[in-house]
Amino acid sequence: RPRTKDEVMAKVKELGVRFIRLQLTDILGITKNVDIPVSQLGKALDGQIMFDGSSIEGFVRIEESDMLLRPDPSTFVVYPWLESGATATARLICDVYNPDGTPFEGDPRNCLRRQVEAAKAMGFTFNVGPEPEFYLFERDAEGKPTTRPTDKASYFDLAPLDQGEETRRDIVVALEKMGFEIEASHHEVGPGQHEIDFKYADAITTADNIATFRFVVRTIAIQHGLHASFMPKPVYGIPGNGMHLHMSLFRGNENAFYDPSTPNQLSDVAMHFLAGLLHHAPAVTAICNPLVNSYKRLVPGYEAPVHIAWSEQNRSPLVRIPARRGLSTRLEFRSPDPSCNPYLALAVTLAAGLDGIRKQMEPPAPVHRNIYRMTDEERRELGIRPLPGSLGQALDALREDEVIQEALGPHIYAHFLEAKEVEWEIYRSQVHQWELDQYLGVF
Ligand code: ADP
Ligand code: MG
Ligand code: MG
Ligand code: MG
Ligand code: MG
Repeated sequence: RPRTKDEVMAKVKELGVRFIRLQLTDILGITKNVDIPVSQLGKALDGQIMFDGSSIEGFVRIEESDMLLRPDPSTFVVYPWLESGATATARLICDVYNPDGTPFEGDPRNCLRRQVEAAKAMGFTFNVGPEPEFYLFERDAEGKPTTRPTDKASYFDLAPLDQGEETRRDIVVALEKMGFEIEASHHEVGPGQHEIDFKYADAITTADNIATFRFVVRTIAIQHGLHASFMPKPVYGIPGNGMHLHMSLFRGNENAFYDPSTPNQLSDVAMHFLAGLLHHAPAVTAICNPLVNSYKRLVPGYEAPVHIAWSEQNRSPLVRIPARRGLSTRLEFRSPDPSCNPYLALAVTLAAGLDGIRKQMEPPAPVHRNIYRMTDEERRELGIRPLPGSLGQALDALREDEVIQEALGPHIYAHFLEAKEVEWEIYRSQVHQWELDQYLGVF
């Protein structure tokens, strides 16, 4: 991977690249690409490419629409499906700067970097490994996405290679060519549902990887005539798409969550981080589950969490601590879904954990029983709070949590909240088919 302008220029020459896509992600988590011919690359690498920020949803107010893109040379990678010939294309992920050269506070990547720097000042590197899930659906005759799955298979099925399996294999091949270390890929519980797990890395690399991952999955699916959906709950009654986040703090090459001298071999740092994450979970949910639809996934009866609790044993709580210790010691945060903005999701989870460390918060006792099956009374006695049940409730929680607001920064906080309030209000005032089916004939 190149590290400097000159190294990128040399690579471009060596590989015969003709076009560069400058990649960035807006506040609402949509990844955008600005295409430039290679003749403009020198200028781009000097941070001289201007773009109109107002054309990028969520990015700016009209009066400050000129932004500078600063490509990160280490993110240079050639698209495997545009490897050679007149259209050979590589991409670079960019940071967004103001015309005066200061980092733009509406840039989610800058927002994550601020938290990463805060962790660094405390001696930590934040490592994250995601487990994104998605559905592969058929397209109709006009090419529009449907919710018809490509197969009827289920978890870890060894069906004869169907269209879905073939597509997933091609996705894995493309990702590997782009430098992803794929740890596992398998069919998930839902028909046409898949999961691809890649190796953990520092938070910025992982957020970049998630954004790239979603783009690659969609692109390869299109090539197979399919539609890849990261929608949290595309179909009622079948499992939703989650994106569990495995998280640890490292100090140099050591895992700071591991401490062989304690009964559960988890360090104080791990317990404080866990406590901070649970404490801020309601507000964090607004960022990690940002769609109206996200809350259709966070319901009882599937593997998705509904309550704020942790466990070392079962898979229903919000945070699970996998049994592995040593370098693999980690928390698994199970509520996030793949529609989230990966930069903001990692920024707020890190901020929550660091707040727990700074304030030396202690987590509640672990809950090893099935929380779904407890009565409200039992949950109250154990101090188990529910996660927000709707986008509206999550936004209420975000409005109350100054630590998470501060992690987002005033610009992103204000724009995110405004956009989501509108989304929630529009949804809330709709009359849905379910209501007509239930009420029209009766009332
Ligand atoms: P699950 O058991 O929930 O299905 P997986 O095995 O599919 O989990 O995924 C494990 C994820 O955890 C991978 O992305 C892996 O790279 C990541 N991981 C392993 N060790 C660490 C660590 N120390 N910090 C963060 N993530 C880690
Ligand atoms: Mg997995
Ligand atoms: Mg696994
Ligand atoms: Mg899964
Ligand atoms: Mg998992």
